[in-house]
Amino acid sequence: MKQGTKCIQAGYTPNNGEPRQIPIIQSTTFKYDTSEEMGKLFDLEASGYFYTRLQNPTNDFVAAKIAALEGGTAALLTSSGQAASFFSIFNICSAGDHVVCSSEIYGGTYNLFNVTMKRMGIEFTFIPCDASHDVMEAAFRPNTKAVFGETVANPSLSVLDIERFANAAHRHGVPLIVDNTFPTPINCRPFEWGADIVIHSTTKYMDGHATSVGGVIVDSGNFDWEANRERFPGLTTPDESYHGITYTKQFGQGGAYITKAVAQLMRDFGSIPSPHNSFLLNLGLETLHLRMPRHCANAQKVAEYLDACKKVAWVNYCGLPNNRYYDLAKKYMPNGSCGVVSFGLVGGRAAAEAFMKELKVASIATHVADAHSCILHPANATHRQLSDEELKAAGIGPDLIRLSVGIEDIDDILADIENALNIAVK
Ligand SMILES: *Cc1c(COP(=O)(O)O)cnc(C)c1O
Repeated sequence: MKQGTKCIQAGYTPNNGEPRQIPIIQSTTFKYDTSEEMGKLFDLEASGYFYTRLQNPTNDFVAAKIAALEGGTAALLTSSGQAASFFSIFNICSAGDHVVCSSEIYGGTYNLFNVTMKRMGIEFTFIPCDASHDVMEAAFRPNTKAVFGETVANPSLSVLDIERFANAAHRHGVPLIVDNTFPTPINCRPFEWGADIVIHSTTKYMDGHATSVGGVIVDSGNFDWEANRERFPGLTTPDESYHGITYTKQFGQGGAYITKAVAQLMRDFGSIPSPHNSFLLNLGLETLHLRMPRHCANAQKVAEYLDACKKVAWVNYCGLPNNRYYDLAKKYMPNGSCGVVSFGLVGGRAAAEAFMKELKVASIATHVADAHSCILHPANATHRQLSDEELKAAGIGPDLIRLSVGIEDIDDILADIENALNIAVK
């Protein structure tokens, strides 16, 4: 199946007389005739449902669709993108371990890693996404367990050289985890470039209608945990909290990582999405292949308009030939990157605030990547807690405006911007 067919049909195939649409199994629990049968499920000896915190059919159908879209072997839905980022690392790292991370990542992820997970004893070394070979190599330590980056960073919009980061990770026997939220698998499939694990905030384009916070973790099945067994004892040695099963032995290279995340992390942290939210996410996925090209086409026109406008000091969009990431974007996302454009106005921070007040089509919202155009001043919102130095490292200036271009009519979007610029910037 091609991506457009997978968006609609992958993950769920009804049998004769069954619902055409993925049913919402809004039930916490599942009934069995004998306790022996249930015991086998608890021991992971048989597959089946017993409690929604561990598995639920609606959630699994939607996870299977996303696994198909990314070209992975298994996937797990989480209650938010933050939970997906946390699980993706914590599934293979414990106190005393270390991760190499691109500094150009979502502010919430940066805080999770640099503050909260640091308190759990996991250290992160942040390197620029265009770090030199020497800087990259020097970041690795004997206790490094993973490399993490974002395909197109929110909101700096820098593009990760996935192949380069994957090669570095593999030289050191660890997987590359990529947050692929902004391009979605319609525009980029990081596994094709060597990434081992992909995560998403499904809250963004996948849901696409600003209805449900959610996340997903997808495993490519390509990383050989057994070849690096000393580094990943959680996957390659018996789990005493699960009757001594060894995930790589019982579930193979393609199933070990996600099964462990379900059996340990979901069991203990319980960050599951509601089946109803997963149903809504699936409705978004059904049109993802139609919406992404429109987001990209609209954003390209907005970026070109801003680039030509004298009231605009700078524009950052990797679809502009003058952008430093243009070539990387062409390589990894030949059909377009995403609908998010960032820019600064002549007049800086004050002009940004005046401009945003005048917009009528684009609304001020702490969101990106849904059908509605929305706009945010990160230094005043999502990235408030970052120091000026951290803002700089994350590629965000105090004047940066992040515009998430929706799928409204482009004429209305452009007229709205022009009108606000005329009022706010003299
Ligand atoms: C929003 C976002 C997250 C966090 O996801 P939530 O669903 O808000 O928890 C992570 N990464 C990226 C790139 C994001 O845009």
